[in-house]
Amino acid sequence: MTRTDLRGIRTTPRRKVLISGASVAGPALAFWLNRYGFAVTVVEKAAALRGGGYPIDVRGTALEVVRRMGILPRLQDAHIDLRRLTFLDGDGSEVASVDPHTVTGGVAGRDLEVRRGDLTGALYTAVRDDVEFLFNDSIDSLDQSGHGVDVTFRGGGRRTFDMVFGADGLHSCTREFLFGPEEQFHRYLGYCFAGFTMRNTFGLFRETTMWNTPGRAAALYAVGDNDDVHAFLNFACPEPPFDAFRNPEAQRDLVAAVFADAGWEVPGMLAAMRDADDLFFDGVSQIRMPRWSSGRVALVGDAAYAPSFLTGQGSSLALVGAYMLAGSLADRDHAAGFADYEHNTRAFVTVNQDQVGEGDATLFPTTARALEQRNDMLRDLSAMPSAEGRPAHSALTLPEFMPMT
Ligand SMILES: Cc1cc2nc3c(=O)[nH]c(=O)nc-3n(C[C@H](O)[C@H](O)[C@H](O)COP(=O)(O)OP(=O)(O)OC[C@H]3O[C@@H](n4cnc5c(N)ncnc54)[C@H](O)[C@@H]3O)c2cc1C
Repeated sequence: MTRTDLRGIRTTPRRKVLISGASVAGPALAFWLNRYGFAVTVVEKAAALRGGGYPIDVRGTALEVVRRMGILPRLQDAHIDLRRLTFLDGDGSEVASVDPHTVTGGVAGRDLEVRRGDLTGALYTAVRDDVEFLFNDSIDSLDQSGHGVDVTFRGGGRRTFDMVFGADGLHSCTREFLFGPEEQFHRYLGYCFAGFTMRNTFGLFRETTMWNTPGRAAALYAVGDNDDVHAFLNFACPEPPFDAFRNPEAQRDLVAAVFADAGWEVPGMLAAMRDADDLFFDGVSQIRMPRWSSGRVALVGDAAYAPSFLTGQGSSLALVGAYMLAGSLADRDHAAGFADYEHNTRAFVTVNQDQVGEGDATLFPTTARALEQRNDMLRDLSAMPSAEGRPAHSALTLPEFMPMT
């Protein structure tokens, strides 16, 4: 890999890489690969960085990743600091009001909860001057038969890269190119959810209110500094609605039908969902794969190991995975680097994915009896101090990686 330049100095040509997806895993991977001397291109199918989604958590090992990236202060400024989580029963009366950390396993004063767009914005700002971004485009085909990866783009371009990375989320196309249909790796956990923003006409401030009946939850997250709330509708759905995943109108119809007779603020939430321009709908699912790479192409974040929002660890796994993948390639070729990435990251991923099992969503019980048991647990919790954090969140100590000289 080493060459001699015109002055007789030995240099290493920059390895060219392509990352598909500009959300959390993609820009984080771009940041570290650029740091290690790679020439990085990111392709994102959306026309611009996508906002939306309800607030996400950055905890444990992932906090150290964002500290090393230099964006921790910015994220601390964006920290939402939700002070209260109130549960309501079907008629809207209060069941319990608790410190949010007692339920999420987060640590007050250390872990971060930020709007998803604030995290992606911070990551993008940290790399946009050093990395090429291609918005409104995506990979059409990948061919690894030569000495690199020949890529054609939907927009008509054709280029060759030394490596390609799929950071394109739960329904990753890169994964499908490499390993075939999603169904083989998709572990559906029995729920679907819709998230969108709407006007805060509820007088809520830095708090979450969640209404439940068996198999249904409606929540309003008020982050405090503007007139919007993040609305969230989660429901049990025994089979994944694959048709709805591809069709926003079918998503709206499905959610409206499931919540048609619901009380509390749900009718207003359904009306707001119809007009929302940032609706995000998905199944509550994990991705579990025996391998995360094939040849010169590797997967990172939800594309490789989505843990589901029930763990609250999707963004943290994406950040840690990106750090480990880039670092593993800093001073070695793709074959050795990809093997190290898996070897050193898989245990952390698995212990976090194992935080939930099928039908084991404590906050979203599907029967009246399970809901009553959950409510009893919450009443006990309301007297408890904030949690210490879950060991899984910090189950990996980040190595230091050295770039190739
Ligand atoms: C708009 C949005 C809202 C979200 N809201 C929530 C939420 O409310 N709750 C929750 O638990 N999780 C949500 N997520 C998922 C959450 O961001 C991830 O679980 C986590 O942050 C891991 O990030 P990731 O980068 O691996 O994947 P993602 O955040 O899913 O990002 C994947 C990126 O790849 C892009 N992409 C997809 N296919 C292609 C393609 N073929 N070519 C190019 N680009 C492609 C997507 O547009 C997206 O920017 C949301 C994701 C998005 C994109």
